[in-house]
Amino acid sequence: MNDRAFYGQLADLHMHTHLCAHAEGEPKDYAKRAVALGLGELGISEHAPMPSGYDALRLAEDRLPDYLAMVEAARRVAPQLPIRLGVEAEYCRGQEDYVRRFLARADWDYVIGSVHYLEMWNFDDPKEIPAWRAIRDLFGTWRDYFSLWKEAARTKLYDTLGHPDLVKKFGFFPKEPCEALFEDALRTVAEAGCCLEINTAGLRKPVKEIYPSSAFLRIARRLDIPITFGSDAHAPHEVGVGFREAVALARECGYAEYARFEKRKRMMRPLP
Ligand SMILES: [Zn+2]
Ligand SMILES: [Zn+2]
Repeated sequence: MNDRAFYGQLADLHMHTHLCAHAEGEPKDYAKRAVALGLGELGISEHAPMPSGYDALRLAEDRLPDYLAMVEAARRVAPQLPIRLGVEAEYCRGQEDYVRRFLARADWDYVIGSVHYLEMWNFDDPKEIPAWRAIRDLFGTWRDYFSLWKEAARTKLYDTLGHPDLVKKFGFFPKEPCEALFEDALRTVAEAGCCLEINTAGLRKPVKEIYPSSAFLRIARRLDIPITFGSDAHAPHEVGVGFREAVALARECGYAEYARFEKRKRMMRPLP
């Protein structure tokens, strides 16, 4: 299948803009790139605001109107392309009400739920690699991550859970087998009726693997958890990057379809 036919059957639902202060471009730039690829659908998913005490690498509360206007502008630039309004919201224990109040401020097509913090530790920041090196009980760190991830699913605030095994980003894997940990976390996701994301950004990180691993995704398939696709683009040229590998992984794990959203209603589509 040629690239345009392949991309035409897919939706990339994860990307950021300069409003988060660590990505470049506006939704219209991402839309232009998506049109050039022949992508079937695009979803913009800026990092949602958090209260003070968290980093500022995210949309500021008072810039939400600018964000909404930028997504509208992208729709004008590429009227032939379905462009969904999304957001990547944190799950941090104790901040559920803050997130809920923020989400009530717009009419989202979908919400990605992500865990980027263990308590207040921003474990996915490259500056934290020395701290990772110093961890004696990696399995304990992974267990803490997945217990937060389970709590995220239980809130039912999110439509899909982003980069499911982000905790592997820098390649610090526990020696212990993790299947039981994955299964336990995924059972909660299945019960909550949430999707999980196949996120290709891991290919561009030290771990050089898609999030999640095939071991993880096989369990998700067995539990009938739907998948979404996201490049986690932080620049327009990253739209759709790694999607051949992502679809191959999904197929290898037994998937034949994936989810996309409109006004928080899930629609299933066949994989290319
Ligand atoms: Zn980001
Ligand atoms: Zn993220």
